[in-house]
Amino acid sequence: MKISQRAQAVPPSATIAVTTRAKQMKAEGIDVVSFAAGEPDFDTPDFVKDAAIKAMKAGQTGYTATPGTIELRKAIADKLKTENGLDYTPDQIVVNIGAKHSVYESMQAVLDPGDEVILPTPYWVTYPETIKLAGATAVIVETKKENSYKITVEELTAAITDKTAMLLLNSPSNPGGFTYTPDELKAIAKVLEGTNIMVLSDEIYERLVYTGTKFISFAALSEDAYNRTLTINGLSKAFAMTGWRLGYTAGPLAPIKAMGRLQSHMTQNPVTFAQSAAIAALTDKTGAVETMRVEFEKRGKYMAKRLNSISGVSCHQPTGAFYCFPDVSAHYNKTIGGAEITDSMSFAKALLEQASVAVVPGSPFGAPDNVRLSFATSMEQIEKGLDRLEKWLS
Ligand code: PMP
Ligand code: GLU
Repeated sequence: MKISQRAQAVPPSATIAVTTRAKQMKAEGIDVVSFAAGEPDFDTPDFVKDAAIKAMKAGQTGYTATPGTIELRKAIADKLKTENGLDYTPDQIVVNIGAKHSVYESMQAVLDPGDEVILPTPYWVTYPETIKLAGATAVIVETKKENSYKITVEELTAAITDKTAMLLLNSPSNPGGFTYTPDELKAIAKVLEGTNIMVLSDEIYERLVYTGTKFISFAALSEDAYNRTLTINGLSKAFAMTGWRLGYTAGPLAPIKAMGRLQSHMTQNPVTFAQSAAIAALTDKTGAVETMRVEFEKRGKYMAKRLNSISGVSCHQPTGAFYCFPDVSAHYNKTIGGAEITDSMSFAKALLEQASVAVVPGSPFGAPDNVRLSFATSMEQIEKGLDRLEKWLS
């Protein structure tokens, strides 16, 4: 059967591909240590599951309003107000089927062919594809290791043209593990003042920040920033709810309404009883997120320290998300265990085949010198995997 040019132009997600390969090898009985998964290794807290079961039993099994129930959108508005200092009415919020869907749907709602989207490296693998699917063009801005891979004011200014429609920001970053400081964000906001450039601010890792890092929402910087920003967030990462598929977008009324119109034809509404579970998660007073955050912080510190002690590997201390993103390019153009290492792809492939350690190559993130290691796995696995990596490289 014919496949559309649109679908043919989109490669499968590299992060999902490596995660799946590692799972397959495990199922075949191979003792793989996987640093591939971009999801918490914790289970969803019980009180969240209980809320879903209760909702289901109470008959919450039909359709809801397209953008999500008013109760959930009120809970999200309260969360955005109290935690992020953002004033959104429930009408300015649309709940999507995961933040991945929020990214896709928001771009479908606001981008046109010919529009340019400034996309700093390293970027999450899904962004260039969703930009392409909206008919727009990604203008990739290579950031520098010495700037912790964050886009500078000079780099941003140089990338702006009269076609620039959007800047994509993802802080804390997947895969970079860095977080923009309030001052860095303010400097970016200043560059955008007086332009028509929107900001898509993907804040899904906001609760997972480390070493005293302070998270700030881009839209909270100023009235100007608020008016140009679509704030994306979700339940997956902070609440260990990846399988529940709950993300949301908040922003000015017009784009949010446009997203609702698209959603009314695409997916109708997020899963009904999952929405009640989301209210329980967002209004949690048990500190479940903090317990997980503390554990991630411990693992991230350990992983970065170990990586930096390996010859030819250098890694910034992660300040957010759950990824280390070391530069391993000192090992390129070498032969390891009979395999020629020429780039991040051959590095990751040989490491998996020879030492049974799964990492995601940096190229699909636009960062060919690096590989991504997720520390959303147990300390025991982290120690074992890093021992193997160290031995393999020596
Ligand atoms: N944004 C970023 C930066 C991510 O890493 C992810 C994880 N897949 C998402 C969005 C989407 O998460 P979800 O669809 O599970 O809400
Ligand atoms: N966001 C996670 C990751 O980067 C999950 C997989 C995906 O959606 O890309 O690994």
